[in-house]
Amino acid sequence: MTVSERLQPSPDRLGADLDELATVREPTRAGWTRTVFSEPYRSSREWVASRMRAAGLRVETDGAGNIVGVLPGRVPSAPALVTGSHTDTVEAGGRFDGVVGVLGSIEVVRMLRENDIELDRDLLVVDFLGEESNEFGLSCLGSRALAGELTTDHLDRRDRDGVRLGERYAEFGLEPSGVLEAAARFAGRGALHRYLELHVEQGPVLEQRGTAIGVVTAIAGIHRLVADFVGRADHAGTAPMAARRDALVAAAEAVLAVRQQGCGAPVHGVATTTRLDAPPGSPNVVPARIRMYAEMRSVDVGWLSDAQRRLGEEISLRAAEHGVDADLTWSVDNECLPADADVQQVITAAADSLGVGWEALPSGATHDAVHIARLCPMGMIFVPSRDGRSHCPEEWTDLEDISTGIRVHAEALLELDRAR
Ligand SMILES: [Zn+2]
Repeated sequence: MTVSERLQPSPDRLGADLDELATVREPTRAGWTRTVFSEPYRSSREWVASRMRAAGLRVETDGAGNIVGVLPGRVPSAPALVTGSHTDTVEAGGRFDGVVGVLGSIEVVRMLRENDIELDRDLLVVDFLGEESNEFGLSCLGSRALAGELTTDHLDRRDRDGVRLGERYAEFGLEPSGVLEAAARFAGRGALHRYLELHVEQGPVLEQRGTAIGVVTAIAGIHRLVADFVGRADHAGTAPMAARRDALVAAAEAVLAVRQQGCGAPVHGVATTTRLDAPPGSPNVVPARIRMYAEMRSVDVGWLSDAQRRLGEEISLRAAEHGVDADLTWSVDNECLPADADVQQVITAAADSLGVGWEALPSGATHDAVHIARLCPMGMIFVPSRDGRSHCPEEWTDLEDISTGIRVHAEALLELDRAR
């Protein structure tokens, strides 16, 4: 019997873990809510650390709040192999996003130990702090900090209650200075060998095509827009239609323009208006000020920059037709990031050797892998999401599909351990 044939996850054990973690959530909200810095999240992290310990990992929490389980390798000086994901959720989210990567990697450790397989390199299983986007407008807090991309400016950002991010860290038991210093651990490339993340697809492609495994080619770049529309307040009963400078009408045109750009994407591209802020209006006043938030994502860098330019022109033009000023501020949340070609090759070879079907596909969602890619080459493995649903209580992946993902994940990790 080959090593790969011996390495089988236990669906019962995995299912029990998934069920147990799912009980830790905000009790008063629908679905599964474990947002960063919340009490349920604190409890769930203790549970994750205890599961890591039970699996035989040496567990520590780094300065940035990442839970790191270490499986020591035979060659302590060799750059470490890293895997993991996250266990925080969006508000009213699901049970699988991120969780599959953390619990799946703990299962890989159990499989290795049960079969007396020692790796050459240390294997780090990381539960990254706060991957989901939060009130501070930041996602991937833990991996961002580890990659040295979290700054004092970020710590000064405030949430809806006016509390600084740095204070939220401190309340959660993490010193803000320690958060910033966490990057020193793996500063520069070379300290880490490879990063591999197992994750649910969060989209419909694998299920629709009946494919077990997605090999991620690239993670989409995200360009964000904040648009301020300034018109003029007037009496809604007396101001003639042609004379109005209605900021809400200009914003409405912009919402449609965003959608139009997304629908025109040739390969993978999406565009979404995520929020409209209007001051409490009067039922009889023409709206004068509206703020709109939108984002565009694609793995096609050329399309993304062209679409951003086209959208900017379109919004300004339509606003001007309504006599409204549009002030547009763009920012890049993350640039499009290709997965490492060699790591993709290792994943496809692992799937082939196990007789598991796979296909290459881009990730429209962002992941901790984007940030860890600053430290070492990265790759990602996707497993199917039922009906392509995610970030909602309906999020679901069959245990059988997760188990297949874990087998490919384990096989790929073994190969990456051997790779120079
Ligand atoms: Zn995730």
